[in-house]
Amino acid sequence: MSARDIPLSEAGGILTVDLSALAANYGELARRVAPAACAAVVKGDAYGIGLEPAAQALWQAGARSFFVALLAEAREVRDLLPEAEIFVLNGLFPGTEAAYAAKALRPVLGSPEQVASWSAFCARTGTALPAALHVDTGMNRLGLTPAEAVNIAEGREELGFPLVLLMSHLACADEPEHPLTARQLEDFRAIAALFPDVRASLANSAGALGDPALHFDLVRPGIAVYGGRPRRDVAPLRPVVRLDLRVVQLRHVHEGETVGYGGAHTALRPSRVAILSAGYADGIPRLAGASDLRPGAEAIVAGHRCPLIGRISMDLLAVDVTEVAQERVAIGDFATLLGDGLGLDGLARHSHTIDYEILTSLGRRYHRRWV
Ligand SMILES: *Cc1c(COP(=O)(O)O)cnc(C)c1O
Repeated sequence: MSARDIPLSEAGGILTVDLSALAANYGELARRVAPAACAAVVKGDAYGIGLEPAAQALWQAGARSFFVALLAEAREVRDLLPEAEIFVLNGLFPGTEAAYAAKALRPVLGSPEQVASWSAFCARTGTALPAALHVDTGMNRLGLTPAEAVNIAEGREELGFPLVLLMSHLACADEPEHPLTARQLEDFRAIAALFPDVRASLANSAGALGDPALHFDLVRPGIAVYGGRPRRDVAPLRPVVRLDLRVVQLRHVHEGETVGYGGAHTALRPSRVAILSAGYADGIPRLAGASDLRPGAEAIVAGHRCPLIGRISMDLLAVDVTEVAQERVAIGDFATLLGDGLGLDGLARHSHTIDYEILTSLGRRYHRRWV
């Protein structure tokens, strides 16, 4: 299904995407946020797991509203889901109006200029095509200022098109006690009151799993649907992604020898080392590696948790399998980097990053399986 589908016999790793877990996660979120509706955010190739199977599974699980970042992504979703409501978060780029209209896509308008362009397009073409409005309440990224939103509320009749969604985005919902969330909620409530007939949407995953006051009419979870952990105080939902890497070489390393680039790992005892066929070109962060000064991530080999050792190379990494009985690991076996209890958040923490970046960086060189 992916553009360059690599057969299992040739692949350095197997990326398994569990679409039933994806659907279950969506269903669980939809239950938790009811009576608010639950959209699905599928930007970034559905957070790296593959847009086509993800969009179809989410539609079957009941999702009807979808969010992407870019028009090209929206077009892909439209071709898969003719009846979905599709919003484009990054705003209306000049000259793209007709492309939205052609596929019944909804821009999320984030500046007075974008609002004016959409109005002008509708007037020029004798249409009245629905759009969403993004108001910034403290993220300082996209969206109208509250004052600009007030102006638009006062000039609603002149817009010439229906507003079907009013949205804002939370900056700190992953930190439950962060005071910015309460301020954003208060400001968003005040703006939403100016648009009483328009659906309102504020919450991402962290907000969806937080205070129900954040839910409004529509929540927009991404990461939680894909099994990532949006906030420390809530357990992740079911894992969606599993990653198994092929053992391509086994070697003995003498005490005092080093492993890998820079000689960053020194064997403190006679060791056995498994070399796995994936590296940072496959989206495994270099920071997941280890040195004599700091530990790295782990992999499961024949049921044992084994430490990654040395630096991660572009296409290879090393694991210390000294603790695994010699007869239990062979060339051609697969070691697990994600799955069987090794979660996205662990790999992310070791790599000084977040689940989102691990998922959206997943490489194109794996044999991909959707189950
Ligand atoms: C990416 C994004 C989301 C989804 O966020 P998660 O933290 O993945 O749930 C929601 N809203 C906006 C505006 C986004 O950019």
